[in-house]
Amino acid sequence: MDKKQQVMQQRAKAYDVIIVGAGLSGLAAAVTSSEQGLSTLVISKIPSLHSHSVSARGGMNAAIEEPNSEQHKLDTIKSGKHLSSPKQVDFLCTEAPKVIKWMEQLGVKFDQQDNHYRLKTFSGNSLPRACYSKGRTGLNCVKALLAQAKKMVSNLTNTFMLLI
Ligand SMILES: Cc1cc2nc3c(=O)[nH]c(=O)nc-3n(C[C@H](O)[C@H](O)[C@H](O)COP(=O)(O)OP(=O)(O)OC[C@H]3O[C@@H](n4cnc5c(N)ncnc54)[C@H](O)[C@@H]3O)c2cc1C
Repeated sequence: MDKKQQVMQQRAKAYDVIIVGAGLSGLAAAVTSSEQGLSTLVISKIPSLHSHSVSARGGMNAAIEEPNSEQHKLDTIKSGKHLSSPKQVDFLCTEAPKVIKWMEQLGVKFDQQDNHYRLKTFSGNSLPRACYSKGRTGLNCVKALLAQAKKMVSNLTNTFMLLI
């Protein structure tokens, strides 16, 4: 084991949570675990601002202007050719509006008109339900989560990003 590997192993032992990947999934997991007081290490091959997440421009589907997420679930199952796990689809569609609100709390501005979200029909959905942020949805969400992660570093001194 060389010196770099030794240092990494020592650091890894000091954390409650180790996350591999710093795209939207990894950053969201890092911020959430840090918020819960867990010391968190993020390891990523490339920086967040070069992850695939930044390429996502179309938007995020969420039944935010609908009474419930039932139709979103049906559309998701159908567009997944009935191969998706119903339990995962249920979770994804139920949580999606909360994620939009969470992103807004972190500073992402989704396009709106007359106090309603401007929505696109996107990715196999039967209704317009993709919330978007000026054609840079992924980039804006990554920037917001990165800013939050950096705050956690300075406030809690327990979140570290190690880019390798
Ligand atoms: C061009 C394009 C357009 C898209 N448009 C949309 C859209 O409009 N709406 C939508 O909902 N979705 C869209 N998607 C899909 C969406 O971008 C992805 O589903 C989402 O970004 C995945 O996030 P992630 O964090 O899981 O992965 P990523 O953003 O890919 O992040 C993965 C992270 O893991 C790291 N990593 C990978 N392998 C290793 C390793 N071996 N060791 C260490 N680190 C590693 C990478 O460096 C990276 O930081 C689009 C995707 C692309 C490519």
